[in-house]
Amino acid sequence: METLLNWHKKNHEKRLYGRYIHVANILEILQELPSDFEVKKQGVSVENKPIHTVTIGTGKIKILLWSQMHGNESTTTKALFDLFLAFQDPNAVYDFTAILSSCTLCIVPILNPDGAAAYTRVNANQVDLNRDAQNRSQPESNLLWSIYKEFEPDFCFNLHGQRTIFGFEDTGKPSILSFLAPSANVERSVTLSRKRSMQVIAHIHNVLSPYLPGNIGLYDDGFNHNCAGDTFQADGTPTILFEAGHYPNDYDREITRQFVFMAIVAALEHISSPVFVDENMYFTIPEHQKCYCDILFKNSLDGDIGIQYTEKLTRNTIAFIPEFSSKDTTSSMFGHRVIDASGLKIKKLLEEKVIGKPDIRHLTLDEGVTITL
Ligand SMILES: [Zn+2]
Repeated sequence: METLLNWHKKNHEKRLYGRYIHVANILEILQELPSDFEVKKQGVSVENKPIHTVTIGTGKIKILLWSQMHGNESTTTKALFDLFLAFQDPNAVYDFTAILSSCTLCIVPILNPDGAAAYTRVNANQVDLNRDAQNRSQPESNLLWSIYKEFEPDFCFNLHGQRTIFGFEDTGKPSILSFLAPSANVERSVTLSRKRSMQVIAHIHNVLSPYLPGNIGLYDDGFNHNCAGDTFQADGTPTILFEAGHYPNDYDREITRQFVFMAIVAALEHISSPVFVDENMYFTIPEHQKCYCDILFKNSLDGDIGIQYTEKLTRNTIAFIPEFSSKDTTSSMFGHRVIDASGLKIKKLLEEKVIGKPDIRHLTLDEGVTITL
């Protein structure tokens, strides 16, 4: 795994970079995939953008993976294309033969192309596709369902990205990757399929925790039948939710991308050659909380003030616009960046000069102190 991580650092798919990843970025790469990758246009989005599947592998165990069902969660799409590159690279220092001979992967990169283009969570009809699994009111939800029914997967990987607000209140560490074995019912019982999902996640945690000690968490397991993962789990298909989170200073999510790639490989490794893992190890992974902000001004005369970036698509790139955070965070707040504001009166100045402005990089205080944001 160490050598694979080093391979990734040098050899990932460099045509995909940063946060704004949409279908136009991946079409050329899809066309260039060699013939052992079967690329098929499965349908179109509300705005008529293509949705593809990429199928690779010859094995009996069928795994369905999809990314960017939330259009602005692009990190896992990058990791999928890194995986395509690794499968093709004889120097990838990891033998993928076992995985590709025992598994067949059907991958939907960018399930929500309109949301990806507009950099929104929702699709073009403003519907959250991950709350549409029962109604299936949208073409993208229907397409995922029909691919699921036709492919009949043995496992599903539901690939998402999470905001910077998640961390662990006990330790103050940020949540860089998180996972969930979705519940199959309101009782949250450990059904057979949920048990398999837990074992896979426990294996991923074993493999990755040396690299991300204390930075891997679990999502809340409340059952919501409208979510894709819960629906497939309830249908008896082991499903794993992957959430790509925030590595310190990595707003482009290029470092998190490495770990998502590693997590997918670890999951495939476990499924293709199962070594026994006690599913109860899953419950030793801590649940994360909403306790982080992007910048925390600590101990100012106005108290602790948290700033949270909102992400806005501007001229083909993502601008990070500072806003006050309070809505999503608790009182025990940590900052990805902490600025000691002891003795400074700062709230009014932030309101006037920083909040809502994407291009403010320096803040000069009345006291003559300059803060770089
Ligand atoms: Zn999501």
